[in-house]
Amino acid sequence: SYTAGSGLGGGSAINAGLASSTGPFFLQHRLPVEGEGINQRVRRNGSRASVAEVYLNALRSKVEIRSSTKVERVVMNDARTCGVELNSGEIVEADRVVVCTGALMSPLLLMKSGFAVEGLGRRLQDHPSVALRYSNDGLPSSTLTAHRAGGVQVIETVVGDEVWVVPALMRPTSTGVIGANDDGEIEAQFRLCQNAGDQELLLAAVTKVAADHARREGIDVPRPGREGEWLMDRLASTTPVYSHATGGCCMGEVTDRLGRVKGIENLFVADSSVFPAIPSVNPMIPTVQLAETLSDRWRDAGLVSG
Ligand SMILES: Cc1cc2nc3c(=O)[nH]c(=O)nc-3n(C[C@H](O)[C@H](O)[C@H](O)COP(=O)(O)OP(=O)(O)OC[C@H]3O[C@@H](n4cnc5c(N)ncnc54)[C@H](O)[C@@H]3O)c2cc1C
Repeated sequence: SYTAGSGLGGGSAINAGLASSTGPFFLQHRLPVEGEGINQRVRRNGSRASVAEVYLNALRSKVEIRSSTKVERVVMNDARTCGVELNSGEIVEADRVVVCTGALMSPLLLMKSGFAVEGLGRRLQDHPSVALRYSNDGLPSSTLTAHRAGGVQVIETVVGDEVWVVPALMRPTSTGVIGANDDGEIEAQFRLCQNAGDQELLLAAVTKVAADHARREGIDVPRPGREGEWLMDRLASTTPVYSHATGGCCMGEVTDRLGRVKGIENLFVADSSVFPAIPSVNPMIPTVQLAETLSDRWRDAGLVSG
């Protein structure tokens, strides 16, 4: 039940610059938010613009975009990629394939295509985060504050009648794995806070938040002295409030510095699955930056022009 897309601006929705209240994130967390909005996260000539405007519009005449189309597998001919197979059964031939189906789906797609690259599916990460929920004691609905210290980010935000205080580890060391079951469906184990150091740091953050907000009326908060139990229960029973999956096709292990899948000359990965360690900030901008860096490297290596 990992949250996907169309959330606060998450998944591909954030890249299109759309924030929608109707996506699974809002439904899962029962957020009483109304309407849709534009959520522009990159700049062009000093002004805010959407990723689609900045990157796609310049290419419209050169690319064909197919909506509602799923890639089932990457097709090989000897040791070379020769295209992709779509859910319609159509084979799209290509001299080069760049996989960018996200941190959960890119490793899965490579697995389903029969690639057995060392490290594939490993080093899956997210920012471990939990929400301590309180009754709103008079904060206006647009309130959102964030502060960071010692690798912990704490966001306090008003969600309807509630105030959510969300501590998150921004430099976790625990890693999980992605695999495919017999039906080819994804099985992702994040193993959040599996390492003792992560667990101690998040527990200290939860304990501090609970103490700092003790004056508030708690809706879902740990009882004093039971913070560890509460935290482990929340980590086991809910997905993180943040949805920042990275890893699975890590650079240096599965891919080289060009994002090229090791041992396969013309197959590349260019998305958040390539990060060898989760960025210590929210990952959308670092993912855009990664794409910029890879395209510079492709140009320098003579793989693309312009
Ligand atoms: C609910 C939510 C909220 C988030 N909020 C924030 C935030 O506030 N700030 C932030 O920095 N980050 C946020 N993130 C994380 C951010 O959205 C991701 O890190 C970023 O989008 C990763 O980019 P990507 O290109 O790797 O993958 P994506 O943006 O997920 O792009 C992958 C694309 O591939 C498509 N796809 C998948 N499988 C296939 C297939 N087989 N065939 C064809 N297409 C396929 C998907 O539909 C998707 O369009 C959020 C994520 C979620 C889910």
